[in-house]
Amino acid sequence: MKCPVCKEPMIVLELNQVEIDYCHQCEGIWLDSGELDLLLEGSKDKENVIASLSKKANINEKKIKCPLCRKKMDKIKTDYIETIILDKCVKGEGLWFNKNELHKVLLAGNLNTNNPVFQQLKSIFEYKFKKN
Ligand SMILES: [Zn+2]
Ligand SMILES: [Zn+2]
Repeated sequence: MKCPVCKEPMIVLELNQVEIDYCHQCEGIWLDSGELDLLLEGSKDKENVIASLSKKANINEKKIKCPLCRKKMDKIKTDYIETIILDKCVKGEGLWFNKNELHKVLLAGNLNTNNPVFQQLKSIFEYKFKKN
């Protein structure tokens, strides 16, 4: 699969037994439908975060194409705790996270930062997990 932003081939990484597609170039992440649920397993705010990802955002960011069906994706906005704009396949095939957006969404979900998902993301990206 190619990165929808820079068109480079993405690599598959395993994050707590969930396979994610990761772009080396822009550090974006593609999650197939349902994978965010899996990553948020154990988060007390999981349902709220997932529900918050259904709002379309009215913003002027350049639209990018779904790496699976190639249709232009919707911009969606979650303002659960923090405003984050994501790209979502119009057919519901998955979600695109630009650099740093996945861990922000996971933090918004109040996932315990000792969770293996965070530990692995940290080792891949060297994020600093800091709650404001
Ligand atoms: Zn990329
Ligand atoms: Zn699609």
